[in-house]
Amino acid sequence: MIRRFFSYYIPHKKLFAADFSSAIVVAILELAFPLAVQWFVDSLLPYGDWPTIVWIGIGLFVIYGISTFLQYVVHYWGHNLGINIETDMRQQLFEHTQKQSFKYFDNTKTGHIMSRFTNDLFDIGELAHHGPEDMFIAFMTFIGAFWIMFTINVKLALVILCIVPILIGLIVFCNLKMNKAWKQMFRDIADVNARVEDSVSGVRVVQSFTNERFEISRFNKENKKFRKAKILSYKVMAFSLSSIYMLTRFITLAVLVYGAWLSFNGQLSNGELVAFILYVNVLLKPIDKISALMELYPKGMAGFKRFTEMIDTEPEIKDAKDAIHVPSLRGDISLNNVGFRYENHKRVLNGIDLHVRAGETIAFVGPSGAGKTTICSLIPRFYDVEEGAITIDGIDIRKITKESLRSQIGIVQQDVFLFTGTLRENIAYGMLDASDEDIAAAAKRAHLEHFIASLPDGYETQIGERGLKLSGGQKQRIAIARMFLKNPPILILDEATSALDTETELIIQEALTELAKDRTTLVIAHRLATIRNADRIVVVTEEGIAEEGTHDELIEKGGIFANLHRVQYRR
Ligand code: ADP
Ligand code: MG
Repeated sequence: MIRRFFSYYIPHKKLFAADFSSAIVVAILELAFPLAVQWFVDSLLPYGDWPTIVWIGIGLFVIYGISTFLQYVVHYWGHNLGINIETDMRQQLFEHTQKQSFKYFDNTKTGHIMSRFTNDLFDIGELAHHGPEDMFIAFMTFIGAFWIMFTINVKLALVILCIVPILIGLIVFCNLKMNKAWKQMFRDIADVNARVEDSVSGVRVVQSFTNERFEISRFNKENKKFRKAKILSYKVMAFSLSSIYMLTRFITLAVLVYGAWLSFNGQLSNGELVAFILYVNVLLKPIDKISALMELYPKGMAGFKRFTEMIDTEPEIKDAKDAIHVPSLRGDISLNNVGFRYENHKRVLNGIDLHVRAGETIAFVGPSGAGKTTICSLIPRFYDVEEGAITIDGIDIRKITKESLRSQIGIVQQDVFLFTGTLRENIAYGMLDASDEDIAAAAKRAHLEHFIASLPDGYETQIGERGLKLSGGQKQRIAIARMFLKNPPILILDEATSALDTETELIIQEALTELAKDRTTLVIAHRLATIRNADRIVVVTEEGIAEEGTHDELIEKGGIFANLHRVQYRR
C-alpha cells in the first residue's frame, strides 16, 4: 500500500527531490543554530572582539536568509507536490468512473462516489502535502537535538528527556479531543448543507405548501447544532494551545533553574545553558509534527485504500482483446435465445429470439416491467447478455469495440438528461465538433427553430440546471436534434413521447418519424397510435415475446395486442 502511494510521487520526483533536500538543509540549520549561539556566548562574548562579532552577525544573517528561502521552497513546493499528486489521483478517479458499467452505478450510491472525490482525496492530499518529508525531517530533528544535548550535558538532557513524554502525551490527548470535536463539526455542517440543498432544490414544493416557516425552523435547529459543535471545537483548541504553552514554559523554567545550578557548580557554561533553552524550542516543532502525522497518516491511508479499491474495480463491460472496430453498421439486429437478469433480481428475459432487418421499424408494446427497456439496453451493451447472443450485421456485439458500437446507436428516452449550459451546448452533445450550420439544420429538423428564434439569446440561452427552464416537449426536441447530429444507423426510442400531452406528442411524432427514416428503429410505445406505421409490432410480456406481426395482423388475431387496442380506444 505504501509503495503504491509512493508510486504517485514518481512523475514528480524532481519536485520531491528539491522539496526534500531543502527540508533537510532547513533541519540541519535549525539544529546548528543553538550551537552557534553557544559558541558565540562562550568564546566571543567574553573577549569583546567587535569586528569579529559584526562579521559573525553578518554571516548568521546570510545563513538565516538562505534558511528563509529554503523554508519558502519547502512550504510552497511541498504543497505544489501534494496538489500535483492529488490532481493526478482525482483525474485518474474521474477517468475510471467514466469507464464503469451501468451495473456499477446500479449498485453504488452517488453520495458514496462523491465522498471518494471530496473527503478521501482531501485526506490523501493532506498526507501527500506534508507526509513523507515532514515525517523524516521531524524524526531527524528530534533525534538530532537530543543527541547534541546529550553530548553537551547528560544530566540536563536527561531532565528534558523525562519531561518530553508528558508533553507528547498532552499533545496526543489534545489531538484526539480535537479530532472528535472536528468530526462532530463536519457531521453537523453536512447536515446543514443537506438541509440547504434539500430546501433549495425543493423550493417550489416548499412554497406551494407555504411551508417556509417550517423549513426555517428546521434549518435553525441544524444551524444551532453546528454552532454548538464549532464552539466546542474552539474550546478544545483553546485548552490545547494554552496547556501546551504552559508545559513548554515549564520545561524552559526547569532547564533554567537546574541549568543555573549546574552552572554554579561549574558543570555547564553560560553558552551551553542558552543552547539548551533554544533546543527546547527546536524540539517542539517535530513533536507537534509527529503527533499531527499520527492522525493524518491513518486517515490518509484509509482514504487511499478506498481510492485504490475504486480504481481496482474493473469495468464489467469492456472491449475484448480481439474486438474489431466496425465504423459503419447496416443495422441488422438479431437476438438469439437471449437470457438476462439484473443482479439480485429474478430473471427478466428468457429465451428471446428476434430478428430486426436493417432499416426496419419495430415497436415493442406490453405491460410495464415486462423487460422492453431491458432488451434495448442490451443492444448497446449497457449490460451483457447472460445467455445467448446478440449480433449486429452477423457480428456478436461482444466482438465489436464499445466505441464503434455505441457511436452507431442513438437512444431517446422519456426523460431527457440535459446538462447545465446553453441550448447550443446541449444540442451539440450529439456531435461535439458540429458546426453552427450543422446545429441549425438539426434544430430545424427537430422542429426547434421557431422556439429558438423566439428567445432573445437564441442558441446561447442558458437552459437552467438540467434544463429546468424548458418544457417537456422542448427537452424532447433537443434530444431529437442531438440524434440528427449523431446520425446513427440504429435508433432506440424508449417511450420518447409518453410524458407529453397529445398535442405536443403529435408535433414530436412528426420529427421522430423523420428521424427514423432510413434507420433501424426500435420503438417502445405506450400510446398505440404512435406505432401504427411500424413495420412490425412485438408484444413483450413477462413470459417473453407473446405476439409478433403488423398492426393489422395483430388486430385480426384478436390476442393481447387487440385487447390493449380495444382498451385504449374503447372500441
Ligand atoms: P419495461 O421497460 O418493459 O417497463 P424494464 O425493462 O424497465 O421493463 O424492467 C424489467 C424488470 O427489470 C422490472 O421488473 C424492473 O424492476 C427490473 N429492472 C429494471 N432496471 C433494473 C435495474 N437497473 N436493476 C435491477 N432491476 C431492474
Ligand atoms: Mg421501460
